Amino acid sequence: MNKPGPHSSTKTDSLGPLVGIYGGTFDPIHFGHINTVASVASQTGLKSVFFIPSAIPPHRPQPQANAQHRLEMTCIAIDGHPQFNIDDRELRRQNPSYMVDTVFSLKSENPENRYCLILGMDALLGLEQWHRWQSLLDQLHFIVMQRPGWSEPSTLPEWWRNRQAETFRQLQLSKAGRIYPIKIDPIDISATDIRNRLKKGKDVSQLIPDGVHRYICENQLYE
Ligand code: ATP
Repeated sequence: MNKPGPHSSTKTDSLGPLVGIYGGTFDPIHFGHINTVASVASQTGLKSVFFIPSAIPPHRPQPQANAQHRLEMTCIAIDGHPQFNIDDRELRRQNPSYMVDTVFSLKSENPENRYCLILGMDALLGLEQWHRWQSLLDQLHFIVMQRPGWSEPSTLPEWWRNRQAETFRQLQLSKAGRIYPIKIDPIDISATDIRNRLKKGKDVSQLIPDGVHRYICENQLYE
């Protein structure tokens, strides 16, 4: 009989499978998204991560490229990563892309799943501005990736301190509500910088997948 691997467990089976979700404007999607989440998936053993492009992000300036282009670029970027999938439910909604609505909708369709929201430190630092953010803490686990330029506050607010997890195992053993700062190599890439570079005609080939680069050129995005 095979021995259980590091991520398999009998005790956690009854809690339901853990599925990653990764929301963003992806305007455009870049290696700071793809490579960091690939590291998260390989380190945690998450078998499935859903990329969820937002239509009308409520907490930030509106994206430059339209929803269809951002969806296409995301499809191109995840090609070759069998554990990555796309969920376009926020693009099909007419209202602002509140993550809390997305999570309730995912859970109603897949009540057996537990969800881990993967996000950068910059995003977690702004969580208190999100619509019904406390409800999200009850519904999900959070996996937080380091991002150059942002760091964990020296004194964590109470909601964060009480939920901070030292290991991914703590997420596997509970239903929701843990915040796990994962240790991965930080990648200093942002979509803002890529848009600025493209506008000035500068090289971005090291920052985005080739297929995304080709798509941007063919569709004359970010000029
Ligand atoms: P912009 O520069 O337009 O704000 P962005 O590069 O931050 O875009 P988003 O699509 O807004 O990209 O980010 C979606 C998610 O990806 C957020 O949780 C963000 O923190 C995370 N993220 C983006 N880039 C990185 C990176 N280089 N390292 C870690 N997390 C990242």
